[in-house]
Amino acid sequence: MPAGPVADSDAESGLESTPESTVGLVIEGVEKAFPGYGQVLDGVDLHVAAGTSLAVLGPSGCGKTTLLRIIAGLDVPDRGSVRLGTRVLSGQGAWVEPERRNIGMVFQDWALFEHLNVSRNVGFGLPRSERRSSTRIDEGLELVGLSDFAERSTTTLSGGQRQRVALARALAPRPEVLLLDEPFSNLDAALRASVRGEVRRILRELSVTSVFVTHDQEEAFLLGDRVAVMNEGKVVQFGTPIEIYERPVNKWLATFVGDATFVEAMASDGSARTSFGEVRLDPSISGEVELLIRPERVGLMASTSGVTGTVTEVEYLGHSTRYALEVDGQLLVARQSSSPQYEVGQSVGIDLGDGEFWGFPR
Ligand code: ATP
Repeated sequence: MPAGPVADSDAESGLESTPESTVGLVIEGVEKAFPGYGQVLDGVDLHVAAGTSLAVLGPSGCGKTTLLRIIAGLDVPDRGSVRLGTRVLSGQGAWVEPERRNIGMVFQDWALFEHLNVSRNVGFGLPRSERRSSTRIDEGLELVGLSDFAERSTTTLSGGQRQRVALARALAPRPEVLLLDEPFSNLDAALRASVRGEVRRILRELSVTSVFVTHDQEEAFLLGDRVAVMNEGKVVQFGTPIEIYERPVNKWLATFVGDATFVEAMASDGSARTSFGEVRLDPSISGEVELLIRPERVGLMASTSGVTGTVTEVEYLGHSTRYALEVDGQLLVARQSSSPQYEVGQSVGIDLGDGEFWGFPR
């Protein structure tokens, strides 16, 4: 059986022996049902070490926003607890009001106040005496590179600038935790890449504990020190981006986080025999398996000696070309960082390299 990292228990995550100052956010056994809808969260356990970021990734409707709202105190869990350091925020008989949690939130629509200028927007969450002008507002604007825009109306800003105002506003009260719900989904592709890079830089610089919600795998891997993949209210896998991509716990997850094909094989002693050759396999996996083959692991060659396949599809994506191939009756997908080199119907050589593969019992 492939041993994959599922939701951490305290012991697995080392939480029991973690010094208090680095405990961060701990979510344990959280359950939530809505009348007329049913179970939305079903026993969610997560741990975000202080100063690190967690990306919560999952398909639409799997409960990501509900989890964020429970952490923020905007929804009450039916069961389970949320802790921040040594403070219990909800559960175990405790309840801390949202405004006393020291948690900031950036929403999908950024929720800026159009009748207030940039500076007043950033100052909105601060104590009344600091709202019109304070060093926290100046610091916030400087952090996001908008110091020269303090007096501007938010209606005159670009999408990327509005997003940065929302971030500065959430950070101005210096929250212990920042929650971000699909914060880049309203930006076009080019802006999205630059704004999310900037947000990552700012959060690392400030060592804020953060939780991002996204349905975009690339974004989750880029922004999350760790990633929790959710489906139907449950955490399917909780681990580093590399663990999630290279050692997914099941086929659904393997496909959800990237292009994947599966090839039947017989495995023993760290190697797997397929109908078209032998590859190295994680030694914990044996018996009848399906190998996980990511497209970047499939090398293609013009030579037709050795293992060969027939190209059945060519997709040019700009930064790379994706090929579908038929190899001994099975589908393989390859991706190369070059413009199309092979044509549909062409016979090409295939090299799976000598790296170790991952797989699932059949
Ligand atoms: P998306 O990516 O589409 O935003 P999500 O993973 O964030 O989805 P949630 O917003 O947490 O999902 O919602 C999970 C499910 O719970 C959805 O089907 C939603 O319709 C339902 N739901 C959320 N809030 C309520 C509510 N207050 N009352 C009833 N049902 C609700």
